[in-house]
Amino acid sequence: MKPIQIAIDGPSGAGKSTMAKLLAKRLGIMYLDTGAMYRALALKAIRMNIDTRDRERILDILPDVNIEIKYVDGTQRIFLDGEDVSDKIRTDEVSMGASNVSAIPEVRQKLVALQQKIASNENVVMDGRDIGTHVLPNAQVKIFLTASVKERAKRRYTELKEKGLLTKTLEELEKEIEIRDYNDSNRAASPLKKADDAEVLDTSNLSIEQTIEAILKIMEAKGYNHAAL
Ligand code: C5P
Repeated sequence: MKPIQIAIDGPSGAGKSTMAKLLAKRLGIMYLDTGAMYRALALKAIRMNIDTRDRERILDILPDVNIEIKYVDGTQRIFLDGEDVSDKIRTDEVSMGASNVSAIPEVRQKLVALQQKIASNENVVMDGRDIGTHVLPNAQVKIFLTASVKERAKRRYTELKEKGLLTKTLEELEKEIEIRDYNDSNRAASPLKKADDAEVLDTSNLSIEQTIEAILKIMEAKGYNHAAL
């Protein structure tokens, strides 16, 4: 049987990684967080004092950067030049840097090739911005997950607070999300865009469990019985 590919795209903070992770676990298949790869590259640039908007300098470091995904006890960990940076890539500075480096076509080329290689011959849930449109255009299930800016900022605020990392107001987080949405949707290289054959799921008023149920329903309607995977 052909491997099943599930693409989850959408703007920052819509809950893609939470859903993709849970869904993969529920289905017993691989999860791949593509944003982590752009984040790892951004972290490398930041550590080298390179402005993440400086295309020339990012292109200088691109050939030598080594980004690897490994699964430790079933969870995805991301390695930058051999170092596990899974936790270090979650800062706001890296988020903005990832949005900047991801606008560079050569960066996308390299990372998309890596994503496609990892997904070949495996059942996979992949989340990102261009999975349904570009990375896995033949994915059998495509979900475009979204939520209002207010709701997404609120979720980020709660997450940062719980981790003791809150340094911004809710309004500042809203502004940042708006900027990232704008960058991601308006860049020339693979902008964030719903694939024509993707199903839109607005999670503003849905719990995590309700969202997972909605995705499983979409899969069932397409003839994929998740119990049989
Ligand atoms: O999903 P996450 O917030 O971790 O992604 C970080 C940034 O990487 C996004 O703002 C987006 O600009 C970029 N990205 C992308 N394509 C992907 C995944 C992430 O351009 N497939």
